Amino acid sequence: MSYADKTLTCRDCGAQFVFTAGEQEFYAQKGFTNEPSRCPSCRQARKASGGGGYGNRSSGGYSERSGGYSERDSGYDRGGSARSSGVREMYTAICANCGREAKVPFVPSGRKPVLCDDCFQSQRRNRM
Ligand SMILES: [Zn+2]
Ligand SMILES: [Zn+2]
Repeated sequence: MSYADKTLTCRDCGAQFVFTAGEQEFYAQKGFTNEPSRCPSCRQARKASGGGGYGNRSSGGYSERSGGYSERDSGYDRGGSARSSGVREMYTAICANCGREAKVPFVPSGRKPVLCDDCFQSQRRNRM
């Protein structure tokens, strides 16, 4: 799809401004079907004064210059935190208290005593 620059007239100040091909493409990508009815400076002024145009999304909708395209970059910063939705892997250890088999969600290091659910619960209760 190719776009051509268009000259539009601002309905606020009557000035002519160019709706560039790049902007048209940007609008199309965002799903906007309307052409801008105001020149860039009037749009800035309206935004600054808090007057909401369409789609009052706080994150800048039309501010082509400031960001917008950077959304893609985020999403990589989720780090290695394990997803909680997945199946948790359980490891078998021997309860240090009652000697029964205990399932724990971490690899038993051998340094810390492992407690089964029951013992863990009762120990916690005793502490409180
Ligand atoms: Zn204007
Ligand atoms: Zn136990």
